[in-house]
Amino acid sequence: MARSIVPDLSTHEVWFLTGSQTMYGEEILAQVASQSQRVVAMLDDSDDVPCHIVWKPVLTSREAILDTMLEANAAPNVVGIITWMHTFSPAKMWIAGLSALDKPMLHFHTQADTQLPWGTIDFDFMNLNQAAHGDREFGYIETRLGVARTTVVGHASDPTVTSRIGDWSRAAAGRLAARNMSVARFGDNMRYVAVTEGDKTEAEAIFGSQINTWGVMDLATLVEAATDDEVDVLIEEYLDLYDVAASLRPGAERHDSLRYGAAIEVGLRRFLVDGGFTAFTTTFEDLGTLRQLPGLAVQRLMADGYGFGAEGDWKTAMLVRIAAVMGAGRPGGASLMEDYTYHMVPGEELSLGAHMLEVSPSLSSERARLEVAPLGIGGKEDPVRLVFTADPGPAVVLALSDMRDRFRLVAAEVECVPLPAPMPNLPVGHAVWRSKPDFRTAATAWLAAGASHHTAMSNQISTRVVQDFATMTGVELLVIDDSTTIESAERELRLNQATFR
Ligand code: MN
Repeated sequence: MARSIVPDLSTHEVWFLTGSQTMYGEEILAQVASQSQRVVAMLDDSDDVPCHIVWKPVLTSREAILDTMLEANAAPNVVGIITWMHTFSPAKMWIAGLSALDKPMLHFHTQADTQLPWGTIDFDFMNLNQAAHGDREFGYIETRLGVARTTVVGHASDPTVTSRIGDWSRAAAGRLAARNMSVARFGDNMRYVAVTEGDKTEAEAIFGSQINTWGVMDLATLVEAATDDEVDVLIEEYLDLYDVAASLRPGAERHDSLRYGAAIEVGLRRFLVDGGFTAFTTTFEDLGTLRQLPGLAVQRLMADGYGFGAEGDWKTAMLVRIAAVMGAGRPGGASLMEDYTYHMVPGEELSLGAHMLEVSPSLSSERARLEVAPLGIGGKEDPVRLVFTADPGPAVVLALSDMRDRFRLVAAEVECVPLPAPMPNLPVGHAVWRSKPDFRTAATAWLAAGASHHTAMSNQISTRVVQDFATMTGVELLVIDDSTTIESAERELRLNQATFR
């Protein structure tokens, strides 16, 4: 059943703006237009670029530039703009437009062709192909105005370039998803916990996401109202998709637990869909009359592209949603994750990540097991949950901390690995990974950054996408990857302390 709220990124537009000036005359400007259309076609046709790249008429005046920027701001499906100064475009013309622009920007420094025609080159060619200095004039005004942007250099036929632009457009889609996000919190944060707290008003100002709280009884009422027919439909689907434990199957002694898990899904989905929410949180300390902590339902909703944070963790809920949109169309998914326990044999260190229940099966291509088991906390009935191991391969883990005067984003590259040995007694979805550059460095940097135990794990995107997202939102970012040393991370955090104050 089609319930996914992961967008089809090809419906998202990136406008391609070409800068020039009237001085060149009609004939030259027609050539500029046709060359920039050729560049746009190469980008739009590339499989690396998921968004639709839309060519816009060549810009030669302050008024046209400002109008185009205002149009881009207002267009709901435009995630960002790409600019290229094909010829010389005196940059004072761009001041009003760049000052008004409220969408992410990529400055593409390129030329129509790769080869210089050495034997035939004349001054007409020089005048037509002068992005080398046109883009320098533009770079000056961008920097002078402090315009946040990603600069990409190279030819549109180069896979390094298209993949770079593709990643940027994924980040821009994530930024749009943040702007459109409404997070439903059922209950507050887990009592006494620090890192899941934060300034929700500031988060809305910076990311554009609305974060508000509802009483859990609003949800419990919808769960009670789930009909037998609605539950039956989901039970069929569960039997079809998962290896359902014998005790949970129709007629078996614990089938009622599964039916209740399905009722939670019916109620929760209805609440989120009716309210236009794309992310949510729960807390085991505030379940009202809900008989189980939502597990299975939360897992399936995450797999459908909803953001989720446990224990009231709305910042991680936002990250899971943003990561799901950034990764749209690729195999894998985004999930709440928690650094749980370590295999600490020197030289073989691994992290075992999981949560009480709520890890998304989108991290795994294996057929999940649907089980029921006791939960040591919360004092409720045994919850149903999906059990699986995340696929081996590269992944990133993201954490967002409120540092009081700003948010700090931390992104760590990890490598998920196959289970070293079966874990027949662990009844939750989980991932096992090796940290980059190594366990000691990664954990030291993570702790120095004050990054949280909850993370969003994605096996669809690279840290480069996250870097672009940080640029677009102006948020501090520490990346932990193969190039990180303890010293470099500590130095960067010290510099960030001054830069982002
Ligand atoms: Mn937790």
